[in-house]
Amino acid sequence: MTRATAGNKHKAIIIGAGIGGLTAAVALRRVGIDVEVYERASVLRPAGTGLSLMSNAISALGLHGIDLELERRGRAIETFQLCDSLGRPVRKLPLKEISDHLGAPSVNIHRADLQGALLEAYGDEAPVQLGASAMHIRPVAGGVRVRFTDGREAHGDVLIGADGFHSVVRHQLVGSEKPREPGYVCWLAVVSFSHSQFTNGCVRHYWGPGQRFGLVDIGHGRAYWWGTRNMSAAAARGWNGGKDEIARAFAGWADEVQEAIRVTPEEAIISVPAQDRPFLERWGEGPITLLGDAAHPMLTSLGQGAGTAVEDAVVLARSLASVTDLSQGLRDYEARRRARVRRMVQLSHRLSQIEQDERRLPRMVRDAYFRWVPMPLLYRQNLSLLAYAS
Ligand SMILES: Cc1cc2nc3c(=O)[nH]c(=O)nc-3n(C[C@H](O)[C@H](O)[C@H](O)COP(=O)(O)OP(=O)(O)OC[C@H]3O[C@@H](n4cnc5c(N)ncnc54)[C@H](O)[C@@H]3O)c2cc1C
Repeated sequence: MTRATAGNKHKAIIIGAGIGGLTAAVALRRVGIDVEVYERASVLRPAGTGLSLMSNAISALGLHGIDLELERRGRAIETFQLCDSLGRPVRKLPLKEISDHLGAPSVNIHRADLQGALLEAYGDEAPVQLGASAMHIRPVAGGVRVRFTDGREAHGDVLIGADGFHSVVRHQLVGSEKPREPGYVCWLAVVSFSHSQFTNGCVRHYWGPGQRFGLVDIGHGRAYWWGTRNMSAAAARGWNGGKDEIARAFAGWADEVQEAIRVTPEEAIISVPAQDRPFLERWGEGPITLLGDAAHPMLTSLGQGAGTAVEDAVVLARSLASVTDLSQGLRDYEARRRARVRRMVQLSHRLSQIEQDERRLPRMVRDAYFRWVPMPLLYRQNLSLLAYAS
């Protein structure tokens, strides 16, 4: 058992300086726990494309005074439009209305800008230890010890595995696992863009057979776009085609879709295979726990992977803030998160199956559902996802 000693500050070791790890570092520090953050990468370079951070994540960040300063970074979502592949409207989702009701915007942002905001909030008191790839984690009397591949070691009262989809900490807890691969690829890019359909704060999702496209305003004249296409899991994992293949996949789609691809330099496009894992019920043992993608990787359909990592971090800090038994605090954190995150993982998986369906009849049923589902029901369903639950 790891117990708090009056007057002594506790120390948490955080493995991974992604969105979840950095948020946890800020949140834990703000409740009086010392943190050391270890990151495998040798530089924290601004990277990645865009993402949406919904009201639940913005509310959670706000509890620790983390302000994304939207005029500097990102864009609040003003409209969320589902369309068919030609851009004809299927349904407008009431995300703006829900965010207004909750008093926290849903936001589109470049990953580098989000990382910048989190690093600013983290400060330079104890810089992230870079080039530190965690290899072996061992509970020891009064805490936990971690060894890195370069021979470094660290000791803390608790250890948070925030080391992403291929988490070493998770592997040590549960052994080898195979990812779940639904069999599609996701192409992504950020590009300077203007088009009559690309309005302030827009999110537009286009649905075709076994294919989708997203066009998202992340502010300062930049579009974040993503496109998906069904293929075998192996082909998605090893995809190394070029922009021509992507342009061909979306030929004949709405003009703004084709235009976004056309103006994007080939080198700005990355590809990611669709992958998640079945929900894991047990995230920790003794002084060790997991957070974010390490605990609950999910498919992207709800746009909540990073959002739930942020929620985890805030609930973790609250759970450790005033306990005398830190290991029990970790178990409380896991218990508080389990039901909500299980639902997110399962819903993302189900929604992804519906969205990527190639068959005509299921697609007609899907489109009819989204066209005609009563607005109060749509509102309630989305409200339960976007309301931060501590
Ligand atoms: C195509 C795509 C689109 C997405 N869109 C959205 C969206 O719109 N909204 C949303 O909320 N989420 C979205 N997500 C999900 C989101 O990106 C992830 O859920 C989120 O980044 C998870 O954060 P994390 O901190 O848990 O993990 P990561 O961001 O993966 O960070 C893990 C960190 O740990 C480090 N690390 C790994 N192994 C070690 C080790 N052994 N030792 C030390 N450090 C290590 C890594 O280098 C990395 O920095 C999307 C994901 C994808 C793939």
